[in-house]
Amino acid sequence: MTREMHPARWGDPKLAGALPDSTRELVEYAFGVQDRPAVEVVAVPPSALSEEILAELRGIVGVEQVLLDDETRRLRTRGKSTPDLLRARSGDLADAPDAVVRPADHQQVLALIELAQRHRFALVPFGGGTSVTGGLVARRDDVVGVVSLDLIRMKALREVDPISMTAVLEPGLRGPEAEALLAEHQMTLGHYPQSFEYASIGGFAATRSSGQSSAGYGRFDALVVGLEVATAKGTLVLGSSPANAAGPDLRQLMLGSEGAFGVITAVRVRVRALPTVKQYEAWQFPSFADGADAMRLLAQNGQLPTVIRLSDENETALNLASHSNVGGDTVTGCLMVIGFEGTDVEAVAAKRGAVAALLTRAGGEELGAERGEAWVQGRFAAPYLRDALLDAGVLVETLETATFWSKRDEVYQAVRDALVAELGEKALVLCHISHVYETGCSLYFTVAAPGGDEPLTTWLAAKAAATEAMVGHGATVSHHHAVGSDHRPWFAREIGPVGVDILRAVKAELDPAGVLNPGVMIP
Ligand SMILES: Cc1cc2nc3c(=O)[nH]c(=O)nc-3n(C[C@H](O)[C@H](O)[C@H](O)COP(=O)(O)OP(=O)(O)OC[C@H]3O[C@@H](n4cnc5c(N)ncnc54)[C@H](O)[C@@H]3O)c2cc1C
Repeated sequence: MTREMHPARWGDPKLAGALPDSTRELVEYAFGVQDRPAVEVVAVPPSALSEEILAELRGIVGVEQVLLDDETRRLRTRGKSTPDLLRARSGDLADAPDAVVRPADHQQVLALIELAQRHRFALVPFGGGTSVTGGLVARRDDVVGVVSLDLIRMKALREVDPISMTAVLEPGLRGPEAEALLAEHQMTLGHYPQSFEYASIGGFAATRSSGQSSAGYGRFDALVVGLEVATAKGTLVLGSSPANAAGPDLRQLMLGSEGAFGVITAVRVRVRALPTVKQYEAWQFPSFADGADAMRLLAQNGQLPTVIRLSDENETALNLASHSNVGGDTVTGCLMVIGFEGTDVEAVAAKRGAVAALLTRAGGEELGAERGEAWVQGRFAAPYLRDALLDAGVLVETLETATFWSKRDEVYQAVRDALVAELGEKALVLCHISHVYETGCSLYFTVAAPGGDEPLTTWLAAKAAATEAMVGHGATVSHHHAVGSDHRPWFAREIGPVGVDILRAVKAELDPAGVLNPGVMIP
């Protein structure tokens, strides 16, 4: 696995490939193929930072840790949403940072924040660069330049507490690095978003990420016990007890703050014993509504497995068309994948038995392990397919929300309708539920449509319509992708004017010069 991704594509180039012939035929049939020329390497705009600022930056982190070359700046430009990729593919590098700076520790981060306040340059924390909501695109209108604060050097496992089962991780650790360090202590975090291979601990905390095993291990914000944050006012250390009633929980103010209040320099997380038993399997339900009702019952009975995800009819049909080598009879209706992890064979078997009994009562039919295992094997591969589809001129993107169980069908239909109204009848809208709670669930949509001549404009209109539908029907702008710069107008509606004022007041207090990721998260 390479550490750096291509600036206009996902992941490791060695794992990327052209569209398989069968998929290309499907695409040709559904949308028509319009091959896009290979991405050209374009020069980034010259750095806007003065020699005085550069000298001070070098004084804090060392000469070698202030990078101005085109290649490094290109790699720190924006994130990995489809609009980000389309802009990069068209040679638009207008959002490239003026410098990339790599601090070694908390003290250097504090000094960089002080310098940014004094000289009014924007500071954009960069973890893994997998943001899909414009979280790495700082506004430039009121600053002298933009510095990418690359946390790549802050990657220590600072501490483990095997009695309390906590660990202190630095923000620059990417998913696999954090898991490898914890595995040396027979521990796991259990946080596996689809971006796991590249996204970082700091990014997970700053965006309140949710992983594929959230049913068993919890969302990332539920895993965070404590935080260390560098702000313009000094250091904030939070989380001195497992739980408390000492005023509002300030950890929740910093989680999801997307670099706008400060830089997270350490995270104390709750860990679990490294699982030795892992069992995945698939089930079939007559309809999406039937499968979702079964998920609700599991959640409300306190019987959730470690992983649970349900594809709607369209996603089920497409998954099977593209994985026709996964054995078994043809599946109609909707496919559910469930997984169980633990350290005790009998405890896992007992849990599995109880879940299977409920799913059967709820109308589910067991399909065996093969499709469950196939999902585990391929679970980080989809982003490579997006690149191959973009190469073929197909517009592909994902969006997500969450709502209460009682509004599930209404929100699902409203978002689908909005996307089809904007993208046309040819648009393919797939959906799955992969995060469930006693009170509701996430809805995660994948959209494919003909790209046309202006794919970026087409997508931005569709995304606006879908987000409007979410907020209009009382759902959230984001269950786990965060606000970034893309969701801000709708976020303001979600939290209302009082909510907006609270966030602005905290911002003014912690970042008086307004240079910490300006234009991100705060409406
Ligand atoms: C293909 C793909 C699949 C994805 N799948 C999932 C998924 O399953 N679940 C999910 O939750 N998300 C998913 N995402 C979204 C993304 O991976 C998450 O938002 C992730 O948490 C971002 O982590 P990162 O380290 O890449 O952060 P970055 O992209 O580097 O940064 C994200 C935001 O956090 C800020 N930030 C980063 N580090 C810090 C820090 N230390 N202190 C303060 N602010 C900081 C940045 O400035 C930016 O605003 C996916 C994205 C892609 C491209």
